[in-house]
Amino acid sequence: MKVLLVFDFDNTIIDDNSDTWIVQCAPDKKLPIELQDSYQKGFWTEFMGRVFKYLRDEGVKEDEMRRAVTSLPFTSGMVELFSFLRVNKDKFDCIIISDSNSVFIDWVLEAADFRDVFDSVFTNPAAFDNNGRLIVKHCHAHSCNRCPKNLCKSAVLAEFVEKQLQQGVRYARIVYIGDGGNDVCPVTFLRKSDVAMPRKGYTLHRTLTRMTQNLEPMESSIIVWSSGAEIISHLQFLIKK
Ligand SMILES: [Mg+2]
Ligand SMILES: [Zn+2]
Repeated sequence: MKVLLVFDFDNTIIDDNSDTWIVQCAPDKKLPIELQDSYQKGFWTEFMGRVFKYLRDEGVKEDEMRRAVTSLPFTSGMVELFSFLRVNKDKFDCIIISDSNSVFIDWVLEAADFRDVFDSVFTNPAAFDNNGRLIVKHCHAHSCNRCPKNLCKSAVLAEFVEKQLQQGVRYARIVYIGDGGNDVCPVTFLRKSDVAMPRKGYTLHRTLTRMTQNLEPMESSIIVWSSGAEIISHLQFLIKK
C-alpha cells in the first residue's frame, strides 16, 4: 500500500506566498491603499480578482507575471524532497491542495520540471481572458463552515481518498504537509495512522500546539519540520516500518 502525501503550496513548497509575491509586478511594487484595504475576511479569491484586474489595468503582461512567479524560491530542501519522491513513486502518491491558483502552480512546477512528481493538483482554476486579465474561479463548493467559500481542503481530501478507494487504491497512511490556517481543517480529517507535518513556527504549527494543549481531540501524530530534508528522513522512516 502506498503513502499519500498531501502538500500545501504557499509557504510550504515555495518559501513565500504567491499571491502577495505577485504584487512586486505592480507599479512601485505596491497596491493602492483602497485596493489593499478592500480585503474582507473569507473573500481572498475575490480580493485577488481585484488585484489581477489592477495589474492588467496597469499594463502588467502575462510574461512579466510568469517571470515573477517562477522566481519564487523553493522552501529549503523541497527540491531534494521532490527528487527523492520522483525515484520513490512506487511508494508515494503526491497531491497538492492549495488556495493559490492553477496558473501560478503550473508555472512553478513546469519551470522547475516537477510536474511528474504530482498525481493531482487541486486549486482555484485560473486562466487569462482575452484582455490579458487573470481570472480565478472557486476551487469547488462545499458545506464546511470553518473554511472560506471557495475551498475546504478537508472536503477535497475526503473526496480524493473516496475516489481512489472506488478505483481500488487504499493508502497505508496520509502524510499532510502544510503551514497555514486553512490546513487545520484537513488535519482534523486525518486518522490514527496518519501524520500531520506542520512547518515549524507557522500558523498550522501554532494552532496544533494550542489544540494539543487544550486536549482537543486529534487522531494523527504530529511531526514538525523546517526543511525538506527533515521530511525526507521521516518518509524514509515510514517506508521502512
Ligand atoms: Mg500555505
Ligand atoms: Zn473545512
